[in-house]
Amino acid sequence: MKVGDVYTCEDCGAEFAVTKACDCEDCQPKCCDKPLKLKGREPAAPQGGCCSG
Ligand SMILES: [Zn+2]
Ligand SMILES: [Zn+2]
Repeated sequence: MKVGDVYTCEDCGAEFAVTKACDCEDCQPKCCDKPLKLKGREPAAPQGGCCSG
C-alpha cells in the first residue's frame, strides 16, 4: 500500500484512500469481509493552479 492508493469495496461501494504507507509485503485491506479492490491513485496535489500555464 502506498500513499495515494485508493481502494474500493465492490460490495458496498465504500472507498478508502491510503494516507500512510505501510511496510507490509502483501497488505490487503478488507471491507464487508472481502478484499478491497485497488481503484487507482489520487493525485498528490490538486491539478492546475493560478500560476500554471
Ligand atoms: Zn464494504
Ligand atoms: Zn500493511
